[in-house]
Amino acid sequence: MNNPAAADTASYNAAPFTIADNVDTALAAMAAGARPIAGGTDLVVGARQGKSPLPTMLVAIDRVPGLAEVRVDEERVVLGSAVTHARLMTDEIVVGDYTALADAAALVGSPATRNVGTLGGNVMNGSPAMDTGAPLVVLGAMIELTSQNGVRLLSPAELWTGPGTTAATSDELCTACILPGRPERSGSAYVRLEYRRAMEIAVVGASASVRLDDSGHLEHLSVALTAVAPTIVEVHSLEELVGRPVDERLLTDVARIASSQAQPISDLRAGADYRSHTVGVMARRAVDAGARRAAGQHIAVPVNRAEGVGRTEQR
Ligand SMILES: Cc1cc2nc3c(=O)[nH]c(=O)nc-3n(C[C@H](O)[C@H](O)[C@H](O)COP(=O)(O)OP(=O)(O)OC[C@H]3O[C@@H](n4cnc5c(N)ncnc54)[C@H](O)[C@@H]3O)c2cc1C
Repeated sequence: MNNPAAADTASYNAAPFTIADNVDTALAAMAAGARPIAGGTDLVVGARQGKSPLPTMLVAIDRVPGLAEVRVDEERVVLGSAVTHARLMTDEIVVGDYTALADAAALVGSPATRNVGTLGGNVMNGSPAMDTGAPLVVLGAMIELTSQNGVRLLSPAELWTGPGTTAATSDELCTACILPGRPERSGSAYVRLEYRRAMEIAVVGASASVRLDDSGHLEHLSVALTAVAPTIVEVHSLEELVGRPVDERLLTDVARIASSQAQPISDLRAGADYRSHTVGVMARRAVDAGARRAAGQHIAVPVNRAEGVGRTEQR
């Protein structure tokens, strides 16, 4: 990219902390070695907990106009990387058309975390337990990375390379997540297994995007899984389900297919077998809720609270 900001890098005053008020300043600071900080809920909290020290140079991006916007651009919706979870869970466009993402944002941390924590920070921390990841996958998002050298669009699968790692270079700022328009009779949902109702990281989770045909049968299905592999997993081999009604048999098949593709680890929070089983349960709940939304049923955001996920009698 022939970007005038590139010329500024040499003269950029390498301050330990820069508050950027435009993208070019942020990119110049990053080219000089600064790490971006948006809400700081990963970066600062992680440093305080002793996980990793704060970088010696930081550039705050939360005041850059445009990065905190949700806008419709022709057939696409552009979510700026500094859009907060609080905005995602209430934004009319996101709740209406990309409901799985609103479900996920509504589950992040506490109101304090959601008020400052951002979509870009969630995506760029590369955690396999990130809540917005599976919704972005099933909704067909592309991640926009910008540096002084230009702009590139990566699919989530291209971006996330392992637990806590991404394909972004250190001078690349995530500027947006770009979502394609949604067809008629589409619905989506995200559900997660949680041991408590706030300040919890997903034990496992699943997101589904469903499109129904005129007769209410499945026309398209996409499912992705949270916290069961080194990165978010997109479930494959779902084509066999297309054309069928979304009934108990289909949901049972969804659970079986999803569980079979999980490759979880055992840790303090759950054993691998338990994760493999419960991610199937989450997948069937996500498909069920996504299909009901596609059929026009109102299920409030987030599904976890609206449906009381965790009740044993729930299918
Ligand atoms: C109490 C608590 C509860 C939490 N609960 C959840 C939860 O339930 N679910 C969940 O998914 N997460 C949770 N988190 C993690 C965190 O809140 C989210 O990941 C949040 O979205 C991070 O956004 P941020 O803006 O605060 O990121 P920051 O801390 O500012 O940044 C995180 C990382 O991303 C980089 N970064 C930030 N923005 C960009 C950008 N635009 N381009 C390139 N790199 C960037 C930073 O350099 C840093 O490495 C929780 C955190 C806390 C403290």
